[in-house]
Amino acid sequence: ALVVKHRMKCAGRWARAVAILRELEEKCAAPAAKLKQVADAMMVEMHAGLASEGGSKLKMIISFVDNLPTGDEDGLFYALDLGGTNFRVLRIQLGGRQGRVAKQEFEEVSIPPHLMVGSSHELFDYIASELAKFVSSEGEGFQLPAGRQRELGFTFSFPVRQTSISSGTLIKWTKGFSIEDTVGQDVVGELTKALERQGVDMRVSALVNDTIGTLAGGRYYDKDVSVAVILGTGTNAAYVERANAIPKWHGLLPKSGEMVINMEWGNFRSSHLPTTEYDNALDSESLNPGEQIYEKLISGMYLGEIVRRVLLKMATEATLFGDKIPPKLEIPFILRYISSTSLKTRKLVVEVCDVVAKRGARLAAAGVAGVLKKLGRDVAPKDGSELQRTVVAMDGGLFEHYTIFSECLESTLKGLLGEEVSSAISIVHANDGSGLGAALLAASHSQYLGES
Ligand code: BGC
Ligand code: MG
Repeated sequence: ALVVKHRMKCAGRWARAVAILRELEEKCAAPAAKLKQVADAMMVEMHAGLASEGGSKLKMIISFVDNLPTGDEDGLFYALDLGGTNFRVLRIQLGGRQGRVAKQEFEEVSIPPHLMVGSSHELFDYIASELAKFVSSEGEGFQLPAGRQRELGFTFSFPVRQTSISSGTLIKWTKGFSIEDTVGQDVVGELTKALERQGVDMRVSALVNDTIGTLAGGRYYDKDVSVAVILGTGTNAAYVERANAIPKWHGLLPKSGEMVINMEWGNFRSSHLPTTEYDNALDSESLNPGEQIYEKLISGMYLGEIVRRVLLKMATEATLFGDKIPPKLEIPFILRYISSTSLKTRKLVVEVCDVVAKRGARLAAAGVAGVLKKLGRDVAPKDGSELQRTVVAMDGGLFEHYTIFSECLESTLKGLLGEEVSSAISIVHANDGSGLGAALLAASHSQYLGES
């Protein structure tokens, strides 16, 4: 009798765990019809954000990049890429149209977590000191003409109100960074001061978001790249807009007639987004409640945390991992990989991961569809002319390393656009394009431009 009772208890608990999974699935469902509404809402918000400053949750930031790399860029340039859990420093010798990337070297340094929530001074000093070390190791194959100052492209992957190609003030931190005294400051000013303190003689010639860097890096190799998407710790997109389609731009119309826009799509939200109790709890307990809602459904920093919350509920209500709740499961942002008890349990855990990841991928696909729609590239031209090729450059660990995610994104996008249009759209992996892109933009905005 005891054995039977025990089995019944187990079956009941298992049923409860499965019920939690099914409910999650239902709440995370993002069928095509819903995704189309998300894509439409994205497009509407893009218009609103371009119309006026503060007109939308989408900041649609004017990047001051009105010319993308041509291949003629020449000389030695540095780049510094700060935005997630690591930062990268890189130097690159550009050899013009013939030489292209003659030589490049980089180093990746992880950011000590306490610096992400400390003081501005400390963070920038740390970055500058790492850059100083890197500069001092500059060896053969890199040439700086005599008497010239080294120049740097600064990829800073947070929302920045650009005031020129080489200056801008931080609007807010995202992705686990929270350093109050940087907000409102010119980040190039902060970096420049830190470089001086570290004795590095270097000019910041371009300040770019990682999406802008990725767009520039992608364009260097393929002239049809006109959209860039980051799917990593955070998420965002940038694209090439017609300058006269930006009502809030009161400056001179650029000669190219184009302007690259940093959408800051992570801050998008819409009643059409499928959300759950786990998302709401995650948001309200996050460093930035009420903000970056789309990002919190999609990006790498949050997917594991959503899963943790689901598993914690299963552990509590269905003793999924035994009678005791694994203490680690109660620690926010702990979840990186999962190893647990029985095969049956592990399969259930995998299902939870799949549901959460696929919702993210499908919502990201809807975002891309929205951008293509804004560009008029979501339908075949009515006049019967040929479809224009559009390349979307993507980067970020989530896209690069999570196959289920990237495959789901691509197939969902195909489904949304249909066979014909899809045949003209390519998604390419612009591996670490943002560092290269920043260096290229530093080159095209060099203080020595025109001198030989
Ligand atoms: C930031 C963006 C950045 C994106 C990807 C977001 O949290 O707000 O500026 O492009 O992460 O790194
Ligand atoms: Mg990479």
